[in-house]
Amino acid sequence: MQIFGKKISNTMGNMKLERDIQELETKKQTLVMSVNNEIGTLKGLITAKFTEIGAESYNLHLRGEFSEEYFAEKFAEINALEQTIKERESKIAEISDRYNEEITLLKNLTPDVAPAPVASLGICTACNAVRIEGDAFCRGCGSRF
Ligand SMILES: [Zn+2]
Repeated sequence: MQIFGKKISNTMGNMKLERDIQELETKKQTLVMSVNNEIGTLKGLITAKFTEIGAESYNLHLRGEFSEEYFAEKFAEINALEQTIKERESKIAEISDRYNEEITLLKNLTPDVAPAPVASLGICTACNAVRIEGDAFCRGCGSRF
């Protein structure tokens, strides 16, 4: 019975570890996904600005005007958005590193995996040698069980 209990506690330890690892993977993915969504939004804003600049360039051209200030301002806005995207990208790398480190730590943890002792099934009636689970023949005298 004690042997059986030991086997179960090793299995439970493994299951808990697997669950913890899975939880960390899920948290990592959720965080990375939300930052990726932010990046998607920022990229959308950049695209919208380019469209806006294109339309305004056309209007300025039609009026025979050119506004250095307008372009400088818009390009600075795009640049700021691109900087923010870079920050978000390094945030993703940080999140991945942090979680991967923890996950690796957990993966290297082995719950006390002492080899489960084999159950004895009693004693050989011919030579009194201990009979081990799975044995078809006696280890002492070779009698068939
Ligand atoms: Zn025997």
